[in-house]
Amino acid sequence: VRKVIHIPKAQYGGRHTVTMLPGGGIGPELMDYVKEIFRVGGIPVDFELVQIDPKSSGNEDLEYAITSIKRNGVAIKGNIETGSLDTGIISRNVALRNELDLYVNVLSCKSYPGVIARQKDIDILIIRQNTEGEYAMLEHESVSGVVESMKIVTYDNSERVARFAFEYAKKLGRKKVTTIHKANIMKLSDGLFLETSKRIAKEYPEIEHNEMIIDNCCMQLVSNPHQFDVMIMTNLYGTIVSNVICGLVGGAGLLSGKNYGDHYAIFEPGTRNTGTSIAGKNIANPIAMINASVDMLEHLGHQTHAHILSSAVNNTVNVEKIHTPDLGGTASSMDVVQSILKHVLEATKSMKW
Ligand code: ADP
Ligand code: MG
Repeated sequence: VRKVIHIPKAQYGGRHTVTMLPGGGIGPELMDYVKEIFRVGGIPVDFELVQIDPKSSGNEDLEYAITSIKRNGVAIKGNIETGSLDTGIISRNVALRNELDLYVNVLSCKSYPGVIARQKDIDILIIRQNTEGEYAMLEHESVSGVVESMKIVTYDNSERVARFAFEYAKKLGRKKVTTIHKANIMKLSDGLFLETSKRIAKEYPEIEHNEMIIDNCCMQLVSNPHQFDVMIMTNLYGTIVSNVICGLVGGAGLLSGKNYGDHYAIFEPGTRNTGTSIAGKNIANPIAMINASVDMLEHLGHQTHAHILSSAVNNTVNVEKIHTPDLGGTASSMDVVQSILKHVLEATKSMKW
């Protein structure tokens, strides 16, 4: 049985080194907050800062980042802008996931009781194929005015995503897995994905399995999201559904996402936005990136620090309700960070090491 959580590598004297990729837009300011919280909280993680330049003509920056992540095993990441439609320039985000074979993306979508949102009490786990499907980047203009784009679905990747989903569901005691697809139209590609998840589901009789077509799924999510528990889907449906659910729960600034392969892991904000238009204004919600750092700490096995930090987030967002404008509040990014720092300090002081 495949191990769900992988052991990180670089550890010296109890400290871990993690690659930090700030990316564009609000990425750098959010990473500064994370670094400050880790410093104040005495969290034993060192960051190796790596900049990626999406405008560079070569791939040296990307190769450097990949080497760093391979060395450290773990990265925390902001989103890297891919504004160019030049076909020679590939998305750095996609390239990183492909090169490191981070075949699954996990988005835990849980409502915050202190946040006024479109839907309450949501608790959905999205398990998304992260490296193929419509993101294969295999497009060409076959004859003038006709573009072909390949959607790649493989038996092996469908199987390991389904396996990951059922193992994860079992480990967390979840009751139901729903496979999202459009196999009525894309009979071969989505058909393979669906058939594979059905086959794997048979090995987990204690977990209910059903299926739903992607368009109906979007409607059901908006009207009755509480019917969903764990969802499995291909890459493009995954990004759309992730954004829909984040919207229902409170927007781009709250939830974090995890990217796993057999050897490496990258943690990042769940909706993968750059937030370019709000950069440098002290209004970006820092919670999604801080939650990504909590995920990272859990992955590294620093459970106590992860718990202190997630409690600080809960106190700030749910109890004191210190909210940035995206959540309908008037607090600045720094107000939120100050509150988290205060709670982290209190918790750290009262601890007996
Ligand atoms: P842009 O790059 O134009 O700002 P994005 O696609 O990156 O837009 O983000 C989508 C929307 O989500 C934008 O309105 C952006 O401001 C918002 N957003 C993204 N991240 C955050 C955040 N951390 N806090 C608040 N709003 C955010
Ligand atoms: Mg953007």
